[in-house]
Amino acid sequence: MVQLIARTSTDLPPDVRTAMGLALKTEEPATRAGQALTIIAQNIDQAASCEGPICQDTGMPTFEVKVPVGVNQIWMKQQIKNAVAEATKRGKLRPNSVDSITGENSGNNLGPGTPIVHFEQWERDDIEVKLILKGGGCENTNAQYSLPTELDHLGRADRTLDGVRKCILHAVWKAQGKGCAPGAVGVCIGGDRTSGYLHAKEQLFRTLDDTNPDPRLAAIEDAVMDAANLLTVGPMGFGGQTSLIGCKIGALNRLPASFFVSVAYDCWAFRRLGVTLDASSGAIRAWLYREGDAPSVPMLTPEQLAAGFPRTGREIHLRAPITDEQIRSLKVGDVVLVSGRMYTGRDAVHAHLMKHDPPVDLRGGVLYHCGPVVAKQNTPGAPKPSGEGGWTVTAAGPTTSIREEPYQAEILKRYGVRVVIGKGGMGAKTLAGLKESGGVYLNAVGGAAQFYARCIDRVAGVSLMEFGTPEAMWHLDVTDFPAIVTMDAHGNSLHRDIEEASGVKLEAARV
Ligand code: SF4
Repeated sequence: MVQLIARTSTDLPPDVRTAMGLALKTEEPATRAGQALTIIAQNIDQAASCEGPICQDTGMPTFEVKVPVGVNQIWMKQQIKNAVAEATKRGKLRPNSVDSITGENSGNNLGPGTPIVHFEQWERDDIEVKLILKGGGCENTNAQYSLPTELDHLGRADRTLDGVRKCILHAVWKAQGKGCAPGAVGVCIGGDRTSGYLHAKEQLFRTLDDTNPDPRLAAIEDAVMDAANLLTVGPMGFGGQTSLIGCKIGALNRLPASFFVSVAYDCWAFRRLGVTLDASSGAIRAWLYREGDAPSVPMLTPEQLAAGFPRTGREIHLRAPITDEQIRSLKVGDVVLVSGRMYTGRDAVHAHLMKHDPPVDLRGGVLYHCGPVVAKQNTPGAPKPSGEGGWTVTAAGPTTSIREEPYQAEILKRYGVRVVIGKGGMGAKTLAGLKESGGVYLNAVGGAAQFYARCIDRVAGVSLMEFGTPEAMWHLDVTDFPAIVTMDAHGNSLHRDIEEASGVKLEAARV
């Protein structure tokens, strides 16, 4: 189980690699979409080679287990829990399980409801375990529709397969870059509200290149793929040709009074693997979704990997502390390379800063929406040596910024933060705050946790550790951290523009 978890977290399966390779070929390299996909491809290869997490959000571990009659499921569930705790200790999983009332992190990914383990009996004599690691950013973009309903840009969705098609397209459009597009959707038609979501997630255990055995559903899957990739949401919501890499639909019976369409959105960091086990010894008999134990085929050539971030020569260098003048000279679309000190802050830090002064001087500073994976010891193959206190950051991509929308403008104003880095963009309140206080929002590439960990020279310190490692405020010294200005100090927002433009394109999918 430890092997399964570690490999799932660090090495994408071949079908996802193929889909992402196709996306890479589709986008022009010098565009925002092309640059984002190159970073993603580098990140995938870096994660596999150093056995580090592909994304810092290692997600909710969900196990689907099939066992022969007579297997002791209580004992087996305990083994899975032990493996989750061990993989967390080894830095393959970020401590992600928090008490929903107190916010306290259990530190080992164990707690009520974590991990999720579903058992089913079958007639075979071996055991099958499938695992998916699905992060919070994409989980938050899941959607459930009760038909008939009215949808933005698409009009009425009836209780028909065409209504289902419209709902799925609407969910992809609503997700924009927040779920780290290009993503894949698992969909359930019918069921009740709970079984619908569960069955939708189960569709994500299908490979991206399979064909639905039900021709009616296969046709809808194809139609959604075609239409979604015309929306030009693009990688990370930057605009582009690739918005969706997979659509998998299942159906459950429903009550006559209900007609739910449940959509489970997964990001490009689509971490899904499985094994079959010898039921007596627990040894791995075979890997699922991949050819044996052979190393994965890299996304890039060694030369492309060594070349790093694809520069055009137009990049703008920023070093903290940053002045008002520098900020106001930036505009949407500029690619910047940030160096110097940045501070991480996500949900707990933002809530804290609304009531308390910051533990460090944030004037002219850079606030990074990130919950990194940090280890106390050097992880074999980790990119950088330990920093202050023996800490090493092993994964450090951006988290979804919109969660901080209620706080961000106030924090910019009160503490003089100049640069906010995250992913998926923020809303009208923050946009106004950036204009008023002189700040910019930079969109980093979501999920590129290995790539960004390599931009960190050292951990210079940490504050607010009482919130747990993902939520603490880490003081990071970085060099040439690349990101794109997607909201500037002049009231411009690439996110707003892409959402509006893709909304117009969505209207073409009405019929
Ligand atoms: S790639 Fe993006 S959505 Fe997926 S787990 Fe990572 S941060 Fe979350």
